[in-house]
Amino acid sequence: MIAYSHQNIDKCDIDAVINALKDEILTGGKKIEEFEQALCEYVGVKYACVLNSATSALHLAYLSLNVKEKIVLTTPITFAATANAALMAGAKVEFIDVKSDGNIDEKKLEQRLKQDSKNIGAICVVDYAGNSVEMDEILSLCKKYNIALIDDASHALGSIYKNKKVGSMADLGIFSFHPVKPITTFEGGAVVSNDKELIEKIKLLRSHGIYKKRLWDSDMIDLGYNYRLSDVACALGINQLKKLDQMLEKREEIAKFYDKEFEKNPYFSTIKIKNYKKSSRHLYPILLYPEFYCQKEIIFEKLINAGIGVQVHYKPTYEFSFYKNLYGNVFLENADNFYKAELSIPCHQEMTLENARFIKDKVFEILKQNKKGCKI
Ligand SMILES: *Cc1c(COP(=O)(O)O)cnc(C)c1O
Repeated sequence: MIAYSHQNIDKCDIDAVINALKDEILTGGKKIEEFEQALCEYVGVKYACVLNSATSALHLAYLSLNVKEKIVLTTPITFAATANAALMAGAKVEFIDVKSDGNIDEKKLEQRLKQDSKNIGAICVVDYAGNSVEMDEILSLCKKYNIALIDDASHALGSIYKNKKVGSMADLGIFSFHPVKPITTFEGGAVVSNDKELIEKIKLLRSHGIYKKRLWDSDMIDLGYNYRLSDVACALGINQLKKLDQMLEKREEIAKFYDKEFEKNPYFSTIKIKNYKKSSRHLYPILLYPEFYCQKEIIFEKLINAGIGVQVHYKPTYEFSFYKNLYGNVFLENADNFYKAELSIPCHQEMTLENARFIKDKVFEILKQNKKGCKI
């Protein structure tokens, strides 16, 4: 099976992990700061805090912004953790509809804020598939209405928006190091920022809210967690980051091939990356035309049976029964259609152009077989 995304583990990674395992200190050592420093340099920010997942990173990001009993505006086309972590921090989540590229619609965000901008604790955007949101427009809204911005850039380590690295422009940027994401530390994540106070708060909460005073004496000044990332994981992360740009180049090569082959086909559209952006190409989404919506299950199964590890990103968060119980039925038209249309096909540095050609041929073959049309 060719997975939709895949980690790259080479001999250097294995050596780095083995060496770290032989160290005296397995967690709480120097590798943590070393990884954080490397992330700061790569992303172009002053501060970073690595954590045991992006979910933990989101949780502490929301806590640091004091969103409790306030509203968090976010996108439904994301992994559940984006909204879940806001709930964990005591916020109420409100979903804003997306555009045809799967990113939050900045115009709908503006309409929402124009109607009422009171009691909003934060906005959290997601750079879907690695393609940056329209950051200038979103930042100017945040400034106008004085609202903090979290950029859940879990897909987008290495992505660029107008010569700046994605994740560096919001108050807080979030990355995930789960194996399907641009780099991996097994499990892992990070918060990056230029705001010292926010990162200090997040670092305190990462480790129980306890800080050392002197000798054996410590104080606990906040209710924190154990969200630390081990030194062994950081050793892997340091090595992964060194080869990130090379991995992104390979993803770009596969994605460019698809872009070209899929131009003006009769079955689906793809997402164009604007010329002032560069995408990490974490996912390669294809968006089926409406006449295929009713046959998506058959198409999905046929692709899996052909050894093509497709996936759907994402079921809108408000469609989960937990959220239905919480907020009742929510319906956002574009998010709903995006979910009906989207299929992520394999695109990563572990596959060859030959694989991509095979996938392209199979996708066309299967869609041709299923071009019966749905009643819509
Ligand atoms: C993967 C992902 C997360 C969660 O990452 P973990 O490291 O698995 O906790 C959060 N948000 C988005 C957009 C993601 O893709």
